[in-house]
Amino acid sequence: MQEGCIFCGIVAGDVPSTTIAESENVVAFRDINPAAPVHVLLIPKAHVVSSAAELRAGHGELLGELFELAASIADAEGLEGTYRVIVNSGSGSGQTVFHLHFHLLGGWGRSGSFPKTLGDETGGVPVN
Ligand code: AMP
Ligand code: ZN
Repeated sequence: MQEGCIFCGIVAGDVPSTTIAESENVVAFRDINPAAPVHVLLIPKAHVVSSAAELRAGHGELLGELFELAASIADAEGLEGTYRVIVNSGSGSGQTVFHLHFHLLGGWGRSGSFPKTLGDETGGVPVN
């Protein structure tokens, strides 16, 4: 737990969240400001690293667990294998919370493709 970290606060139950799933080391909750019909954040329960730039090979098992949970959430949300997983690393990329997290975005429709137009509020610019 890192002092002042809002996502550590969510894990601790000190900050309210809509938690929808968890596994041993990962928790998933809905983004408070959704950028897609389905927008879920997946985070390690522990404040392992503050951004993806700090990830190393030793984090592989944790990342596998996280992506497995993402896939099961996508199934539960009816995304049928069609979704995006995005990670912002560094404030210049749009990262605002410095506890590693992955955005799971989907639900744009059954066409099998996401909107490609930048600025399209249905999902063209998913996260910033
Ligand atoms: P990033 O910009 O990649 O750091 O993503 C941070 C995300 O956390 C943004 O999409 C915010 O909407 C989201 N967020 C911030 N505070 C909360 C919160 N208390 N509960 C849920 N999502 C949050
Ligand atoms: Zn944290």
